Amino acid sequence: MDVEELLRQNDLRVTPQRKAILAVLKNTRSFLSAQDLFQKVIEILPGTNFSTVYRNIDLLLEKGLLCRVSSQTGADLYELRREEGHHHHAVCKMCGAYFAVDFCPMEELVQELDRKGFLPTEHCFEVYGLCAKCREGKRKIE
Ligand SMILES: [Zn+2]
Ligand SMILES: [Zn+2]
Ligand SMILES: [Zn+2]
Repeated sequence: MDVEELLRQNDLRVTPQRKAILAVLKNTRSFLSAQDLFQKVIEILPGTNFSTVYRNIDLLLEKGLLCRVSSQTGADLYELRREEGHHHHAVCKMCGAYFAVDFCPMEELVQELDRKGFLPTEHCFEVYGLCAKCREGKRKIE
């Protein structure tokens, strides 16, 4: 989908910065940190400052256009939300490639938590590992 249309559909004003952020994410099949995203955005739009990128990431996230996972170092990583509905991710620790998974472990957990009187309001669940390409690369090194 066209990034301008995506912005309009979500009642967001079309700005060069937002377009650049979405264009970068659209062309990337891996999760990016805000810093990585910023580096790519300034290639398209030199002079953009980090705080503008960061603010817009937040906004796009809030509007549900992005997915966020936390990396193993604790930094937040982002991708363009391509899947409809609730999903989780398996993320490659080496290259950041990700795979969306339909399975949600909460469906089973909810009942157990309910018995304990606990009401879950949010959750995150990510699987970290190595993608097929990185596994191959690893084998060559060994
Ligand atoms: Zn996602
Ligand atoms: Zn990988
Ligand atoms: Zn879930």
